[in-house]
Amino acid sequence: MTFDYDRGRTAPDRPAPTPPDVSRTPSVVQSLRTHAGAGGGVPFSVEFNPPRDAAGEARLWRAVREFERMHPAFVSMTYGAGGSTKDRTVRITGELAQETTLLPVAHLTAVGHSVAELRSLVGSYADSGIRNLLVLRGDPPGDPLGEWTKHPEGVEYAEELVRIVRDLGDFHVGVASFPQGHHRSPDLDHDTRYLAAKLRAGAEYSITQMFFDVEHYLRLRDRMAALDPVEATKPIIPELMPITSLRTVTRAEELCGRPLPAAVMARLRAAAGDGPEEDKAAVRAEGIEIATEMAQRLIDEGAPCLHFITLNFAKATSEVLTNLGYGVTAAPLSA
Ligand SMILES: Cc1cc2nc3c(=O)[nH]c(=O)nc-3n(C[C@H](O)[C@H](O)[C@H](O)COP(=O)(O)OP(=O)(O)OC[C@H]3O[C@@H](n4cnc5c(N)ncnc54)[C@H](O)[C@@H]3O)c2cc1C
Repeated sequence: MTFDYDRGRTAPDRPAPTPPDVSRTPSVVQSLRTHAGAGGGVPFSVEFNPPRDAAGEARLWRAVREFERMHPAFVSMTYGAGGSTKDRTVRITGELAQETTLLPVAHLTAVGHSVAELRSLVGSYADSGIRNLLVLRGDPPGDPLGEWTKHPEGVEYAEELVRIVRDLGDFHVGVASFPQGHHRSPDLDHDTRYLAAKLRAGAEYSITQMFFDVEHYLRLRDRMAALDPVEATKPIIPELMPITSLRTVTRAEELCGRPLPAAVMARLRAAAGDGPEEDKAAVRAEGIEIATEMAQRLIDEGAPCLHFITLNFAKATSEVLTNLGYGVTAAPLSA
């Protein structure tokens, strides 16, 4: 028997783990309830990305084990544009289900896949014990803002994929929401209308695109409540990313497709200083402070969960959670 320090488990000369009994796998919404009930506070969750190589995989597992001690309500694993890392993504997400106490959510995107391939991919996730899927259309590979072209035998919009997944069996589905509107939506009303359509098609919650002004999240909630009071009761989970350097600002702007608010940039630039080199420690401290302030406001405003983009590092998110009073807590009351 060998011990794999990167994963904190015995491997690889032991029998393959038995896939869990998925009929007992909670949904994200059930897990939010359980976690809120256990600690009396707002649950948190984290997002991971499929690693590119063995070193990246080791780093991911270190982050996984760090977060496992803090009992997130769920962890999500993104899906690379067009499925370039498909096999590794499915394998690692399955390992999260089988070898940790975490509840994994697999992102499923329509880019470059026929409906038959998408059905088979959902089957692979089911075989490895995944019942929670975040269903997305995805962006064109290479240039996320480039022209969207549907696969000839694929789907045009995420809403169709929500229906396909729901028809395949007992899956729990989440979708994306956009506090500032999706970049292809002509206006916010159009955007909200199609978010409501995805929820009506069977999605149980949405996770937002990251934002840096809490007002955008609150206004999305208002628009949903005005448009469809029934669907508006489904959790809208806000996504946060702690800024740790001016380079992370570029990454954040790529991911949300918009510049950061001027007030946030002013704070980060003031921290960076006027010298030839960015004051990295000060920028990082300011970034953590900004994320902490946003998270506290979201808690005060009744957000159902705080979802953190981690880029497979645990430290920055842990610091924000520690600032908010989260810590290594007792396990939730029941799974
Ligand atoms: C939390 C989160 C996680 C993400 N994870 C990933 C990931 O893992 N991998 C990845 O590649 N991308 C990911 N993305 C990016 C996402 O795939 C893109 O933003 C994509 O462009 C939109 O996906 P969607 O599911 O919202 O698409 P849709 O809901 O299909 O919407 C796309 C556009 O079409 C409009 N629309 C929808 N339905 C209709 C209709 N019936 N008629 C007319 N217009 C319509 C919408 O308003 C929107 O403008 C993520 C985004 C978020 C917010």
